[in-house]
Amino acid sequence: MTAPASISASTPVRTRFAPSPTGYLHLGGARTALFSWAYARHFGGTFILRIEDTDLERSTPEAVQAIVDGMQWLGLNHDEGPFYQMQRMERYREVIAKMLADGTAYHCYSSPEEVEAMRERMRAAGDKPRYDGTWRPEPGKTLPPVPADRKPVVRFKNPLDGDVSWDDVVKGTITISNREMDDLIIARPDGTPTYNFCVVVDDWDMQITHVIRGDDHVNNTPRQINILKALGAALPLYGHVPMILGADGEKLSKRHGAVSVMDYPAQGYLPEAMLNYLARLGWSHGDDEIFSMEQFCAWFDLDHLSKSPAQFNPEKLAWINNHYIKLADNARLEALMRPLMERDGAVFANAPDVQKVCGLLKERANTVNELAAAAMLFYRQPQPDAALLTQHFTDAIKPALAEFAERCATVEWNKESLSPMIKEVLANHKLKMPQFAMPLRLMVTGQLQTPAIDAVLELFGRDVVLQRLQKYL
Ligand code: GLU
Repeated sequence: MTAPASISASTPVRTRFAPSPTGYLHLGGARTALFSWAYARHFGGTFILRIEDTDLERSTPEAVQAIVDGMQWLGLNHDEGPFYQMQRMERYREVIAKMLADGTAYHCYSSPEEVEAMRERMRAAGDKPRYDGTWRPEPGKTLPPVPADRKPVVRFKNPLDGDVSWDDVVKGTITISNREMDDLIIARPDGTPTYNFCVVVDDWDMQITHVIRGDDHVNNTPRQINILKALGAALPLYGHVPMILGADGEKLSKRHGAVSVMDYPAQGYLPEAMLNYLARLGWSHGDDEIFSMEQFCAWFDLDHLSKSPAQFNPEKLAWINNHYIKLADNARLEALMRPLMERDGAVFANAPDVQKVCGLLKERANTVNELAAAAMLFYRQPQPDAALLTQHFTDAIKPALAEFAERCATVEWNKESLSPMIKEVLANHKLKMPQFAMPLRLMVTGQLQTPAIDAVLELFGRDVVLQRLQKYL
């Protein structure tokens, strides 16, 4: 990765995640945060969290909390911040005053109606509609008289000629002609700064070296670069990551399942699975699919980012989650499962150790919630369906079950001994495994499908198994 022209290779890396707190932290935002965080970690740099809360109508404290919670769940810890733009108003005003004094910005008294009329005229003439520069000071130009009782906006004096060009880390070189760009309003009539301006001042003050963000911001970049140049600021390197699409190629939305990061812990996903999955959305390292965050940070240098949008694939996320559930410590899984099982009425007295149950069941669980639901087998009273019982508990089976129950009283209680004992009972009564295992499962667990019967019996324990069989014999 080469450093941008104005930032030397020895400049310490400083990246930021700058969400607008207008809703939950969505998957796209989390992925952008992950890339910025990992890049800072790769270079031993600094990762900054900045809350862009100047849109007072749409920003809420709940959304700020949702972002902080999401980042925390993922473990994307910031080194500086959170900085809130609303707490930096004075600084923005200071920079606006400086730009007015330097002549890189100017007061514009055109009313919104007048600006609209200008645009209309240009549209009619087949030109790109833009502000016509009425109030833009130029050497030798006389400005109109200032209208009484009208508060001006402040406009940035965008260069009239030439291009803005940057080597986007993801998209390659992007060049925009200055003729395409308006003199951007940087402060409203009440003096409040506008969005792009706050971003520029923040990136400047926070000495951001790499701006990694969604490609919905590509259009803002040339304006931001021009303002940074006018301020004499070093330019960061920009990387605009394509958005995440649903499997149908449409913009990711609720239709595609949960889009809020914090819905995933609620559904039983592990943060390491989510991180691993997000890392592969729009970035690759050969064929590697499963890797730790330590490994990811060691690899992630902004190369190998994809130019085309990534597609969200819930099945793959589930597969990765299953992988991490299998690796997870059973004590950790128990802590996550217990509240769910308690909610579902689990009775833990006289029941097997939850961590042992985890060991038996986690191989097949895609989520912690699935694991908890499967584990309930051991923590509720069996209520076998009467019709199923009649179907499977035939007269032919009864003597075999009786012999089984008798031998249960003395057999060594582990699956290594239970398994051959069951086989002997089957042989003695000329039965096949399913004929015998189905009614046994129904009686002991209330269900027809369970993991291997010997392992299930071992976990239930001799007393519970005998007690449950007694009812039928
Ligand atoms: N606040 C912007 C957003 O949430 C991001 C701005 C930026 O990264 O420059 O989309």
